[in-house]
Amino acid sequence: MKLLVTGANRGLGFYLVKVGLEKGYHIFAGVRNSTPDAMKSLEDLKNTFGANLTIVKLDVTDEASVIRASQQVMTETANLDVIINNAGVLFGRNRTIEEVDIEECMKTMDINTFGSLRVLKHFLPFVRKGKNQSIINISSDSGSLTNAYSGDYAYGLSKAALNMLSEKLHIYLKNDSIRVYSIHPGWMRTDMGGQQASLDPIVSANGIFQIIESRPVIASKYVFIDYKGQPMEI
Ligand code: NDP
Repeated sequence: MKLLVTGANRGLGFYLVKVGLEKGYHIFAGVRNSTPDAMKSLEDLKNTFGANLTIVKLDVTDEASVIRASQQVMTETANLDVIINNAGVLFGRNRTIEEVDIEECMKTMDINTFGSLRVLKHFLPFVRKGKNQSIINISSDSGSLTNAYSGDYAYGLSKAALNMLSEKLHIYLKNDSIRVYSIHPGWMRTDMGGQQASLDPIVSANGIFQIIESRPVIASKYVFIDYKGQPMEI
C-alpha cells in the first residue's frame, strides 16, 4: 500500500508514518518545515526504513508547493492508495467572540480546510489509479455541531467545514469505490493536544490504520467517525 500523510514531522502525522512503515507500506511524508530539528525524527525513520519512506516538502497553504510535491511523488509512482490529510493548527485557543482575530481564523481555515482541498485537488488523480483506496481527513470533535461550545471559533469552524468537504467528496467518489472518512483522532498527547491529554497518538494512529485496512462501509448517515470507527455526530 502507498500512502501520503501531510503534517508528518510530529504529532499524529509522525506516528501515522511510523505505524505505516512498520506495517511494510510505502509512505510519502509531507513536511512543511524541513529544518534539521523538525526533520530529526523522520530522518531516524529513514535510516531504518530506507526506500519505503519518501520525504516530500509540502506546505498545504501554498498550491505551488502542493503541485511541486505531486511532481516529486510522480517521479516515484503514478498511484497512491490512501491520502491522510492530517496537517492542522489550533490558534488562539479560548478566545471569545469579542476577542476573535479574523486573520487567525482565515489562516486556520486556509490550513485545516482549504489545505486538505488543495491536496485533494492535486493528489486525487494518483488515488484514482490506486487499489482499495481511502481518503482520510483528520477532523475533530470540535467540528461537531453537538460540541458547539463558546471558544475555539476558528478551529471549530474549520473542522465543521472539513466535515462538509468529506461528505461532498464521499458523494463525488461513491461510484469510484474510493472510501472517504472524516476522523476524530481523540484527545492526544501532542504539541496541539498538550501533555494532559488522555491518548497516546500511537493508539490513534493504530486505530486509523485499522480503518484504512478494513475500509468499513459506514452505516450511519455521515462519514464522520472516531479513530475506533464509531460514528460521530456531524
Ligand atoms: P501537532 O500540532 O502536533 O502537529 C501538526 C502538524 O501539522 C505538524 O507536522 C505541522 O508542521 C503540520 N502543519 C501545520 N501547518 C501546516 C501547513 N501549512 N502545511 C503542512 N503541514 C502543516 O498536531 P496534532 O498531531 O495534535 O494534530 C494532527 C491532526 O489531528 C490535526 O488535524 C488536528 O486538528 C487533529 N486533532 C488533534 C487533536 C489532539 O488532541 N491533538 C484532537 C482532535 C483533532 P510544522 O512542524 O511545520 O508546524
